[in-house]
Formats: sequence, structure tokens, C-alpha cells
Amino acid sequence: MRTKMVVANWKMNKTPKECKAFFRAFSPLYKGSRNREVVIAPSYICLPQAELSKPASVKLSAQNVSGEASGAYTGEISVEMLKAIPCDYVIIGHSERRLLFHESDEEIQKKVVQVIRGGLGGILCVGETRNERKGHQTLEVITRQLKVGLQGLTSQDLQQVTIAYEPVWAIGTGEVATAIQVEEVHRWIREFIWNKFGIEEASNLRIIYGGSVKAENIYEIASKPNVDGALIGGASLEAKTFIEILERIK
Ligand code: PEP
Repeated sequence: MRTKMVVANWKMNKTPKECKAFFRAFSPLYKGSRNREVVIAPSYICLPQAELSKPASVKLSAQNVSGEASGAYTGEISVEMLKAIPCDYVIIGHSERRLLFHESDEEIQKKVVQVIRGGLGGILCVGETRNERKGHQTLEVITRQLKVGLQGLTSQDLQQVTIAYEPVWAIGTGEVATAIQVEEVHRWIREFIWNKFGIEEASNLRIIYGGSVKAENIYEIASKPNVDGALIGGASLEAKTFIEILERIK
């Protein structure tokens, strides 16, 4: 059985002091569960503070990483540096990276390879824009992002991969995808993995949903058979709100 996964993407929010205050509020309310993995993705600069302050069973993720191992790449952070925190996961190819920082599928693939070869978990984000959905291109876009993003990976590598389906039109907009829309894409992703890697790989793969998730909508979405959890932006910034979501995914 797949363990559910809930990832908090704090984006460019919180100083280390605010990160510490979050965990001061979060930790007394947090109840771990063997069926659910909780991952916090703060900014790079908050990772060491989060490591000191978080409950032991909560894992850490970076929001990005370099596609290069080391060298003259001013301002970049490598997988080895993240491992020194230590950090468990890296979010790769978030739509804000794709759209605002013009990351291509090929650059994203390089990051996936660095993360997997470095022994960390990769959370590969895929998702269509509003226009692509309107133009009935959703599944085509997802297929391209998966095809390129996972290129060169073996079945064994895939064990370290989680896919996050994040329709761009639902991120930070308050407009959540319906449970039916989410399930349709998640099923498509699992079928893609089945065809490319095999049935066992497909059934073990975690596919999580992101886009305006809140306590009020998570239960219905997470109850779908191909939904294994959520990637949460805005609603993960406040400890009490995030806990309310976690209570609904057990
Ligand atoms: C995200 O940043 O990945 C996200 C899903 O944001 P929000 O929950 O705010 O829509």
C-alpha cells in the first residue's frame, strides 16, 4: 500500500525566526501517523532551522536544486549541499520555476537525475496552464513533461520519485480542480508509468495533487483511488491551518 504524502511548499516565505515560530506552534498539535508522510519545504536558508525545530518524523524538502553537481554556478545549491542539512526531498519543476524562471523540461530532467543519483527523493511537478486545459491539451502536456522529465531513469530510480500534479490555473488562485478532474489526470499518469516502467512501478508510485488545497476540499480529493496526498502552498504557512489539513489525511 502507498503511504500518503503531504508536502508544505512555503515558497519565498518565512525567515529562520518565523520558521522556528511555526514549529513552536505546530509541534504540540502534530500527531504522526504511520500511513502518512509529512514533508516541509522551506526556503534554502530556513532548512537548517527547520531541521533543528521540526518533530523527528517530519521530513524536509528543498524547493529547487541545481542540475549540476558542483562548480562555477554562482547562486546555485547542489544536491550534496542539501544532503548535508540533511534534506530528504527536492521539489523539481514547480510551475513557478517553469514559468517565472523559464526552466525547460530538459533542465528539469537534469535536476531529476542529480537528485536521484544523489540518493534524495524527487517530487516532480507537472501540470497544464488554463489555456492548455481550455484547448484540451492537458494530457498531452502532462505526457510531454513526464516523458522528458523522467528520461534516463530506471525502474529502481523511480522508487525515489513522487509526481505532483499541479494544474497551473489552480495554484494560488483559490480555484481548486474537481476531484473528478484530479483523478482523471492521476490515472493517466499511473498508466503512463505502467507503459514505460511496468505495473509494479506504477502501483508503487505516489501521485499527489497541488492547487488551492484547503481543509475544506482535501478530503474529497484525497479519497480518490489514484490520489496519494497533496502539495500545499498558501494553506501550509500557518501551523493550525496546516494541521487541520493533516487531520483529514490519515
Ligand atoms: C504550490 O505552490 O505548489 C501550491 C499548490 O500552492 P497553493 O496551495 O497556494 O495553491
